[in-house]
Amino acid sequence: MESIGVLLTYQMNSYLEEELAKRFKLFRLWESSNKEEFLTKNSNSIQAIVGTSSIGADAETIEALPNLKIVSSFSVGLDKVDLDKCREKGIRVTNTPDVLTEDVADTAIGLVLAVLRRLCECDRYVRKGLWKKWDFQLTTKFTGKSVGIVGLGRIGLAIAKRAEAFSCPISYYSRSEKQDSKYKYYPNIIDLAANSQVLVIACPLTEETHHIINREVIEALGPKGVLVNIGRGPLVDEPELVSALLEGRMGGAGLDVFEHEPNVPEQLFGLDKVVLLPHVGSGTWETRKDMADLVLGNLEAYFLNKPLLTPVV
Ligand code: NAP
Repeated sequence: MESIGVLLTYQMNSYLEEELAKRFKLFRLWESSNKEEFLTKNSNSIQAIVGTSSIGADAETIEALPNLKIVSSFSVGLDKVDLDKCREKGIRVTNTPDVLTEDVADTAIGLVLAVLRRLCECDRYVRKGLWKKWDFQLTTKFTGKSVGIVGLGRIGLAIAKRAEAFSCPISYYSRSEKQDSKYKYYPNIIDLAANSQVLVIACPLTEETHHIINREVIEALGPKGVLVNIGRGPLVDEPELVSALLEGRMGGAGLDVFEHEPNVPEQLFGLDKVVLLPHVGSGTWETRKDMADLVLGNLEAYFLNKPLLTPVV
């Protein structure tokens, strides 16, 4: 397979990069300062794209590569891949479901605890040498809080199971009621928010879900409500979120993802009721290796004419 050209869009994981380079003819997109020229020069060689959650395969890139056969994404979310264009051109698409579910759910629960119990603020307090007497303010209990989940899929369900261990009543919103679920279903996200103390977003970013968390949802969640986003940044209307936090119309937020990554609204930096992570939901050594192995397995399956491991298109 050494003659098959694979385009890696972003320098994300050294194991993935090394293994791709061993098995295929690897093109590293970031090495070029002019993407258009780079694609034109290598357009005949490239048969596969390995994209990430930051740079995937947009219509322009797909159109520039006439021999493109498969997009194997190093992510479960496919919001950076033009799926319609792939379908139109008969290009196969794969992602990395399941292997990252537990880590992302752990991150969500970590964010809930960090926001409610002010763990990062406590840590800063100790490091600054401020712990001279017992004057740290009290925080908020997580056990027993009502948790609402937007998108009860693989990750949403894993979050629900974890929150159950904290004796939290769980409810959810998605387009369809999950017949095998014991959790309370709200067919309307406003009602879910109004009945949740903690709202966790775990749905994919699509045209339909863009800004699914808007002013109305924020108002329904209320001034004590906490929002946790481990989905994608544009699921939240970020300026609305920032003003609600600044004006005290929201209790707190735990954010792993942002609308314009890697840019994070600086108004949030001074707020102790907010915990900010640099999109690390699946970022453990173990999971990133499993994701890389799935990417490689899908590419090899395709070029050996075997069934894809995790096909999407
Ligand atoms: P999944 O199993 O496909 O679950 C997605 C859930 O969202 C489903 O329950 C689906 O239910 C619901 N949904 C889809 N469209 C919706 C809509 N318009 N309104 C409300 N709910 C909707 O996906 P997953 O594996 O759990 O991953 C979920 C997302 O997490 C990914 O797409 C990705 O963006 C994000 N993620 C983030 C990180 C990170 O590092 N922060 C890592 C991995 C994944 P219905 O079909 O019934 O609506």
